[in-house]
Amino acid sequence: MMPWFDTHAHLSDDHFAEDREAVLKRAQACGVGRIVEIADSPADWDKALALSRARPELVRCALGLHPYYADQFTDELVARLEKMIGLPEVVAVGEIGLDYVKTQLPKEVQLAALERLLAFCRDHATPAVVHCRGAYDDLRGVLERIYRGKMRPNRFWGVVHCFSGTAEDALFCRDLGFALGVDGPVTYPKNDALRQALALAGEQCLVLETDSPYLPPQSIRGKRNEPASIPEIGAALAKTLGLSPESLAAATTKNARELYRLDQ
Ligand SMILES: [Zn+2]
Ligand SMILES: [Zn+2]
Repeated sequence: MMPWFDTHAHLSDDHFAEDREAVLKRAQACGVGRIVEIADSPADWDKALALSRARPELVRCALGLHPYYADQFTDELVARLEKMIGLPEVVAVGEIGLDYVKTQLPKEVQLAALERLLAFCRDHATPAVVHCRGAYDDLRGVLERIYRGKMRPNRFWGVVHCFSGTAEDALFCRDLGFALGVDGPVTYPKNDALRQALALAGEQCLVLETDSPYLPPQSIRGKRNEPASIPEIGAALAKTLGLSPESLAAATTKNARELYRLDQ
């Protein structure tokens, strides 16, 4: 069985209310040995923690403030985060980031929250799970200010999840110490530019994710996504890189464990 790793899912979402256990079983049945559950706002943090506690052999979690909620950023939130990142279930802060496409929240509000949260991650040597849509120039500026010249805890400061930037963005993020998250869009026939950017970045910086219930791969487009899609996404990425699915699984899972600082 191949040791796949889904580095980014939202299984506490209501889309999984009816069959969450079956979804987790299907993931394990196809070789997904680890899933990181991502909480987008403080209102979801306890749910993500509960899911990890219920399935410690499979699930860990990240606690974040999605750019959709950047106006909820407060000092109290940081204080609560500081208490919770020490818990064994919590492996990262995220998702946090910038979204200039899907939300009307002013850029300044998003940038201010992101900058504070990334500085927190850097100072606590905690991995950051970064969301970026239509905002790569500004993201590069923030990453540069926070991380350039600082001593890294290991290969990765964090991950730019659902990477959708240019080849230049990919190399910039990689060289600064960020992994790139690869998901359903790598399977879409029209996405040659994305595949070229990922091939250029190379397998040493890539991790797999589903972003379930979002971003379904080609075979289930328009439907609910789930962690059992990881082998399909992995197969498309393996082809892109000219690797066997086995070596792609091994490489991306090794990267994911290093990213989230997990021994297994
Ligand atoms: Zn996201
Ligand atoms: Zn997400």
